[in-house]
Amino acid sequence: MVKLILFDIDGTLVLSGGAGARALARAFSELYEVSEAMTGIVFAGCTDPMIVRDIFRVKLGREDRPGELQRVLDRYLLHLPEEVGRAEKAAVLPGVEALLAALSPRADVLIGLLTGNIEPGARIKLGRFGLDGYFGFGGFASDSEDRDEIARVALARGRQRAGRDVPAEDAIVVGDTPRDISCGRAIGARVLAVATGPHPKTDLAAHAPDWLLQDLSGTTAVMELLLDGEAARSRWP
Ligand SMILES: [Mg+2]
Repeated sequence: MVKLILFDIDGTLVLSGGAGARALARAFSELYEVSEAMTGIVFAGCTDPMIVRDIFRVKLGREDRPGELQRVLDRYLLHLPEEVGRAEKAAVLPGVEALLAALSPRADVLIGLLTGNIEPGARIKLGRFGLDGYFGFGGFASDSEDRDEIARVALARGRQRAGRDVPAEDAIVVGDTPRDISCGRAIGARVLAVATGPHPKTDLAAHAPDWLLQDLSGTTAVMELLLDGEAARSRWP
């Protein structure tokens, strides 16, 4: 049996210390002379293209035109490495490095990404901490703007990599927002929610994930949950 474990990035694996928002704000400032492009924009759990389209509507009062989304994202990617590099509050979240190191060598586990980041942005954010090498596959906002569809892509790529038809219930989505929970549900996967992003446990509990943790520290217990969740469930506080 193979478990597919699909990790969200922002608020789940790492905090980018606002680097993504600043890189996008710089893109809008340079291309459209919009100041404070991110003020009042909700972005946790949203895909990069959704955020860009939202800024067009809120700050420019119109929809983006053909080619504009790509132009903004290209400019965003230009600034992202510098912003990620200098973000003082950027950090790997508790337990993440130990967990990835423990999962990675196992033959019965495949770890991938399931993120609202476009793939090059995802690699830049994880690369700052040397974590990108853990993830050979994933679903990204460069595959679809819709998180449920990104989840389908991630699952399909995981199955391809496993070389077999892994049942959806053997996939586990790990994320920090209600959108992570709902996209996991959309593909029939289990969901482990962590309160290391903007949502406290009480918020996340209302969306009924299979498991809910404060963070990913305590590698042995988290591994047990991921690999034998039903057994772990009965013992979990
Ligand atoms: Mg997140």
